Parts: sequence; C-alpha cells; structure tokens
Amino acid sequence: MKQVAIASGKGGTGKTSLVASFANFADAIIADCDVDAPNLHLILKPEILEKIPFEGMELAKIEEDKCIKCGKCEKACRFGAIEDFKVIEEKCEGCGVCQLVCPVDAIHLHKRVTGYVFVSRTRFGGFVYGLLSPGEEASGKLVSQVRKKAEEMANKEGKEMIIIDSPAGIGCPVIASIGNTNLVVIVTEPTMAAIHDMERVLSTAEHFRVKTVVVINKHDINEEMSKKIEEFCRRRSIDIIGKIPFSKKFVEAMIEGKSVVEYDNEIARIVKNIWENIEKMLEYEGKDNL
Ligand code: SF4
Ligand code: SF4
Repeated sequence: MKQVAIASGKGGTGKTSLVASFANFADAIIADCDVDAPNLHLILKPEILEKIPFEGMELAKIEEDKCIKCGKCEKACRFGAIEDFKVIEEKCEGCGVCQLVCPVDAIHLHKRVTGYVFVSRTRFGGFVYGLLSPGEEASGKLVSQVRKKAEEMANKEGKEMIIIDSPAGIGCPVIASIGNTNLVVIVTEPTMAAIHDMERVLSTAEHFRVKTVVVINKHDINEEMSKKIEEFCRRRSIDIIGKIPFSKKFVEAMIEGKSVVEYDNEIARIVKNIWENIEKMLEYEGKDNL
C-alpha cells in the first residue's frame, strides 16, 4: 500500500484544497491528520460511520473520602496541578508522582477522552479524520490512530493508496503524519517565509528518508520568489511537480463546500496533471525499492 502525505510549512497554502481535489482523481482512502484544526470534512461532507473516542494522557484524581490532607501530593507535583487537595485537570500531566507519595492510596490515575477518530464515507470514498479537544496534548498519538484506522479501512476495501492531509508546520503531529510514508508533497507559495518553512518540513521528511517533491501554489503572485524556490529545489535535487496560478476559485469552491476541481475546469486540468505526476513518482518509488 502506498501512502502520500500532503504537507506545508505553514497554513493557508491551499494544501487542504489540493487534498480534496486529489480525492476526486484517486482510488484511495483519505486521512485528515490535522487533528488540531481539521477542515477537510467541510469540503468532503462525510457521512459518519463510526466515532471512536481517543484516550490521551492519564489524569490524577483524589478520592476525598480517603484523603487525610497531609499535603504531600501538592508538594511533590512539579506541575502545580494540585491545590487544596484537588487536581487541576488542565495542569495535570499524568506523571503519577502524587500517587506514589500518597500515604493512604487516595490518588488514582484514569484515562480521559481527549478527542475522537471519525471513520466515514464521502462522495469520493473512505475518509478518516481526527479531532482533538481544545487545549489537549498528544496530537501525535491521535494522528497515529487516524492513520491506523485509515490503513484498516484501506485493507478492508482493497484500496492501494492513502492520501494524508498533514498538519501545517513541524512538531509531533507532522512527524506522525509523514513518518513511514512513500512520498511527501510540500505545498508552498512564493512568500518571504516560504523557503524557510519548506526547509523545516524537508528536514523532517529527510530524517525519515521519505522522498519529497514540491508544488508551488499562487506561483504568479511573486515570480521572483517563485524562481528562488525553483532554484532552491534545483540545488537540493527536489522535483517541482506542479505550479498553480493564483485563483479566487479556491476560496469560491470552499465557500460552496466543493473541491476546486469540481468548481473550475482550468484549475482542474492543472491539478489533475499534478496528481498524475504524484502517481508516476509513487510508481517509480515502488520500482526503486525492488
Ligand atoms: S499525576 Fe503528576 S502532574 Fe498530575 S497531579 Fe499527580 S503529580 Fe501532578
Ligand atoms: S498525599 Fe494523599 S492523603 Fe496526602 S493530601 Fe494528597 S491525596 Fe490527600
């Protein structure tokens, strides 16, 4: 099974619009791994088949009846998560130290639901996405759950490909999204910060030895900067597999809850070409591994 992650150094590059568009052309399961702020479902409009609770970090709880108010737990907690013999849930890191120091076994750790994985179906096929509760940590772990469910769905339905909408930026959720994939497609745009942002994603992908290619969106808003990106990619031997001109159709399509390729023929032609390039790269990658 092939897995391709669509990533970007920062938000707003058109990454999610492209993933929704690729969904039109690919016989694949789509996985939205941007669990802190998923928005692909707004375009794909899924019918939910399964809602699976995600249990994140553990949380300490003090049993009032047992507590003898010795204060040892409060002193031992280096996160300042215990006050007046009560656990402040938002501060608790689930380290378990309080449980160890409590002389009367009044503290227990319990799992808590900090998000959900949704398994669903859209007009393009299977779609899995995650949603982390606001302010919660462990989004990398939730991303792994989303990918696991997407793999299960792909196996069940005999699909040979998973397209991953990776969160923007770097960090745990991005690492969890692009690790162990066959190809990373970085969507960038010609702005001052673009090369810097792109470099950060590139080093993450390189760390995992995943082949990386680039798509320049809105390439015509700053031709000089686009050339700099092309030059940068040439120096690093990174293929640019497509350039998309600036178009208001992206936003218009989103407002209508459609992918841009369902909305505009000219953009559809360009994006289809990019998707075909991705398919070729994946095919080549497979042969390369033989
Ligand atoms: S589990 Fe750790 S962080 Fe949470 S209250 Fe106990 S000592 Fe503090
Ligand atoms: S260590 Fe145990 S007994 Fe002491 S205050 Fe904390 S919960 Fe209560």
